Amino acid sequence: MSERKHVIILGGGITGLAAAFYVQKYAKETGKSITFSVIEASNRLGGKIDTIKEDGFVLERGPDSYLARKTVMTELVKDVGLGDDLVSNETGQAYILHNMKLHPIPEGAVMGIPTKVMPFATTPLFSVAGKARAGLDLVLPKRKDSQQDISVGHFFRRRLGDEVVDRLIEPLLSGIYAGRIDRLSLQSTFPQFVETEKKYRSLILGMKKTQPKQEKTPIAKKKKKGAFLTLKGGLSSFIEALSKAVPEENIKTGVSVKAVELLEDGAYSVMMEDGSVMTGDNVIVTTPYPITKKLFSKTVFPAGFHDTKPTSVATVAMSFNEEDVNFSLDGTGFVIAKSEKTSITACTWTSRKWPHTTPKGKVVLRCYVGRAEDQDIVHQSDEVILEKVLDDLKKIMGVDSHPEFYHVSRMIDSMPQYEVGHKEHVKKLRTAFQNELPGVRLAGAPYDGVGLPDCVNSAKEAVDSLFNR
Ligand code: FAD
Repeated sequence: MSERKHVIILGGGITGLAAAFYVQKYAKETGKSITFSVIEASNRLGGKIDTIKEDGFVLERGPDSYLARKTVMTELVKDVGLGDDLVSNETGQAYILHNMKLHPIPEGAVMGIPTKVMPFATTPLFSVAGKARAGLDLVLPKRKDSQQDISVGHFFRRRLGDEVVDRLIEPLLSGIYAGRIDRLSLQSTFPQFVETEKKYRSLILGMKKTQPKQEKTPIAKKKKKGAFLTLKGGLSSFIEALSKAVPEENIKTGVSVKAVELLEDGAYSVMMEDGSVMTGDNVIVTTPYPITKKLFSKTVFPAGFHDTKPTSVATVAMSFNEEDVNFSLDGTGFVIAKSEKTSITACTWTSRKWPHTTPKGKVVLRCYVGRAEDQDIVHQSDEVILEKVLDDLKKIMGVDSHPEFYHVSRMIDSMPQYEVGHKEHVKKLRTAFQNELPGVRLAGAPYDGVGLPDCVNSAKEAVDSLFNR
């Protein structure tokens, strides 16, 4: 084999493109002769990231922002020259729909965990018994076997009771994972709460201690900075900049990978659906897990890992004339308790949360449909989905008009389900690959976190581990 190393990256979503960027960066920094190819099945880069830009609107079909505290993504945004385009969300009250009424999320609730007494004690969202049950968290002992993974639902139900979980925590979390909270792995999704319990025993006391104190100076009166970031030109502008940061000829779109095999000389043969073959020294795999399993048909994947099909969701972005949405509540949107009989699971008041996305005089609402337990709706026609969404919005917000335009975006099998034991399964799978296919790395949403920064970090770690950094 030649001296020049060739890394083949499967998938051109954020993980694959970030991996390409980091391979190139490593080659430049070390002066080593390394090249790479990105192979993307569709004719478009970005995977789940897909921005629609039209008539002054910036609408996201998939993700719309990322958590600012996970700085690896911001660093990469700056690396590709888009630092000045970063924009934080406007903050404001968020709501929960319960009994078909919007309730403000009690002030001081952090991921649903109450840290302030009065807002929690006075909210009509919970019954007196539900509040008293949550208060038991203050005296309950910590879990003995804290290292053992349990479900997020199990953990929070034990500490705070069913009511707080079903009416507040579950709706907040299911927006991120679109899964079943009673099967979702605590260790893989919210390890910080395991630590909080370990250290402070009570989640309420722990969260109270670890939240930044509110200053009593006039500065405190300033509007809080949002916890999320996006790009003025939409997330696709980041994908564009990322792909332009590497030579165009290194990226192949419209080419679907069919299989990967280890050759006798230690190289890898990547076979495409069109019959072409590419050979490389290393392969970074960022395709969705069900596809990855097919690409490596001779590898044994751990039983029980990602056996639950990824959830499908659809988003519906709608633009109205301002005067047609006569809605008095201030804030940025709402999530919905599972017990409600609605088709939508959440609604972002996009033009308020992200004012740069919407021309003056217009209102953009973005609704989500598709629960783990109700996947049918995602497969309905655009018109049927819109009708159901508008029906819900009429009941909840009193919106009684048809949008000027709308986009229904289906993301089929798009939300990988991190079930209890996920971390252990990932470890097992990576060990199996290390033994059987030592030049291959698995990266992206199925393994190390579904958030965009998690994907970037996963790509970075895959590249670092290939080159023993
Ligand atoms: P993907 O984006 O899925 O990329 C994989 C790529 O592999 C695709 O481009 C695909 O076409 C390609 N591919 C598949 N098969 C083959 C093949 N055989 N050969 C070659 N290529 C192939 N995260 C956030 O941080 N913030 C959010 O606001 C947010 N909102 C979300 C909203 C929705 C509706 C969804 C679905 C997800 C959201 N997420 C959010 C999660 C985040 O968008 C994803 O986890 C992330 O984009 C996954 O990136 P990836 O590169 O790992 O995978």
